[in-house]
Amino acid sequence: MILITILIVQIEGSMMDQNSLSRYKEILSISEENIIFVKNPYITHQAELGFDSSSRSWVVNFNITQSEFPFIHELGHIYFAKIKTRYMHFALPPPPHLELNRRIGDLMGNLLDCFVNYNLSVFKEIYPIIQQNDFEYLDNLRQFQTKIGSINDLNTLLGWYILFYLDFRFILKKEDRDIKNQEIYSFLEILRSQIYNFTDFNRNNMIKLTKSLNKFEKAKIEIQHVRIIYFIYNTLLSIKLWSKEELKKQIEIFFP
Ligand SMILES: [Zn+2]
Repeated sequence: MILITILIVQIEGSMMDQNSLSRYKEILSISEENIIFVKNPYITHQAELGFDSSSRSWVVNFNITQSEFPFIHELGHIYFAKIKTRYMHFALPPPPHLELNRRIGDLMGNLLDCFVNYNLSVFKEIYPIIQQNDFEYLDNLRQFQTKIGSINDLNTLLGWYILFYLDFRFILKKEDRDIKNQEIYSFLEILRSQIYNFTDFNRNNMIKLTKSLNKFEKAKIEIQHVRIIYFIYNTLLSIKLWSKEELKKQIEIFFP
């Protein structure tokens, strides 16, 4: 009884209420999963997923939330790991490891997120939320440009580029992409020009990255975890910021 009360109080501070949570869990066939929402101002993303083994519950830590999208995305990880690929490391945080490279891990996370988002977009009840989230960025180009201008970290910019490029090109439906064609071009161009400020990433690197990313059109429907991990590995290799050995080592850490 006490547990239920806590659950309701915690979820009240978020954008998602119990009814819509139950509805989304049902849509994603994850109704039997325990999911607790915890408001946590210290996390770096809008929402982060963890697992509490003592209560066998998923924990969604959330921070600033303007939409339901970050929550649905975290539910999407559970769906993708449990139902779609049956590979739990697509939902669980990486196991602690001394040689874990956070920068590589972040980009692997961005690529994985696109698989999660694609698999969510297939549900007609969920697609409008993804579309709305993308359009909000595209309709506020100026605001985005200011934000991007203040980011002085190549890794962060590459992460954003990967995420938005794949989202806009391969997850948005064609009719929505067509409406926002000009905005999409400008949006990605803002990111590209900020990325070119870094001498270790030039137009040639971008061509190689784009070529790898375009393979997502076929890769997005994969359900075998090995193939998904292979796409992630190849894309990061194409950026040429890390050696094969380093990337293989990190893949083994993040996706054991
Ligand atoms: Zn994610």
